[in-house]
Amino acid sequence: MAMTQPLTLHSWPKAILHVDADAFFVSVEQTLHPELKGKPVITGAERGIVAAASYEAKAFGVKRGVSLTEAAHLCPGLIMLPSDYETYSLFSKRMFNIVRRFTPEIEEYSIDEAFADLTGLRRVHHAAYQDIAKEIQQTIIRELDVGVSVGVSLSKSLAKLCSKFRKPRGFAAVPGHTIHLLLERTPLLNVWGFGPNTTALLAKHGCRTALDFVRKPRYFAEEVLGKVGVEIWSELRGEYVYRINTAPKTDYASISKSKTFAPPSSNQRYVFAQALRNLESAFIKARRYALAANRLVVYLREQNFASHGCEATLNRPTNSPLDCTNVLRGLFEQCFHPDRTYRATGIVLADLQPALPAQCDLFEDPLRAIKTATVAKAIDEVNAQFGKHTVFLGEGLHLGRTSEDRLIGGRRGTPTVRRAHPLPGETARQHLALPLHTPKMVH
Ligand SMILES: [Mg+2]
Repeated sequence: MAMTQPLTLHSWPKAILHVDADAFFVSVEQTLHPELKGKPVITGAERGIVAAASYEAKAFGVKRGVSLTEAAHLCPGLIMLPSDYETYSLFSKRMFNIVRRFTPEIEEYSIDEAFADLTGLRRVHHAAYQDIAKEIQQTIIRELDVGVSVGVSLSKSLAKLCSKFRKPRGFAAVPGHTIHLLLERTPLLNVWGFGPNTTALLAKHGCRTALDFVRKPRYFAEEVLGKVGVEIWSELRGEYVYRINTAPKTDYASISKSKTFAPPSSNQRYVFAQALRNLESAFIKARRYALAANRLVVYLREQNFASHGCEATLNRPTNSPLDCTNVLRGLFEQCFHPDRTYRATGIVLADLQPALPAQCDLFEDPLRAIKTATVAKAIDEVNAQFGKHTVFLGEGLHLGRTSEDRLIGGRRGTPTVRRAHPLPGETARQHLALPLHTPKMVH
């Protein structure tokens, strides 16, 4: 191979870090349940679709989005866990807080990925950028027991390529004068923002690697790919174009509530009332954190543990169950079969965002939106005084008496899993304010 010329001789005009957890949801599960380490594990069992797969499961071809039936077929002995987004979000926050100890300039890009700006911190930390990045990685792995891959380079696009370079627990630091060596080994499809169509288009112009692309003149990127093409072209050449956005993000978070009932039932009204109760619980929590949901997922679990789920996008973000009982009913009817027996229902509120006062869509009566918000607030006040679910939607009556449930599941009942089994890094005194959550079934 011919010697390639460096693209720039500047080592670190900017030092941008990318942290990306490896098989994040599954790693968290393996940390909480060490007996699962080294085993093929997936999460997403409650929805009937793989949400995350451990590297052991990936080796069998199991990946995100595959149905549970197919996953079980690909990998006999696969351990399927329901998702526990509350705990994943908590680990995510802890991971980002570790990065924050090193720099305040952090962008929480997704639940398991962050960018951070390390520029100018060499003096503060008395270390080279690659050493600071390495220290961040090791601190996360040591304190959270969750594997992360880390990359550091001159731009977000380059940092992302670096963290991807040797997953899992990969590490790559690429200063300006060696960017060309990284790009030479990077197929275009790995470039952030390039999909199969772009890749195919660039292939027609003789570009196979990212280096082939950045060796083309700027006007080529502009003519073939437009404005975004030039941005990516510049980023790959080591220019800092995509800025770190430090505004806090909540849109990736979700709230889920599910409850197993005994005896199992095939009574449609009863099972629906269970789902509705979960919906109310989930929204109580959303309101407590001043969040509103954009998407609703419903799932029903049969007696044999098979799960069936459906989801819908709401016409506006809301945190009132009154706004989506009809959506819930529609989804429920899609999943429910009268000849099956169910043991649990679950609700996921997804794409959460900060709740704004009375958001309305164009075709809705704004007064109604304000009224439902007022009703929800009044319900919270009554329930705060007399106990959760003192006031509930009428169909909850199909549940029968629920006061016993409250005592068993409530704060004054048996200690929660969180109290009984502290997370790594927690002590009895320094306990994180964790939401109540039910023990998980491993099957
Ligand atoms: Mg990841």
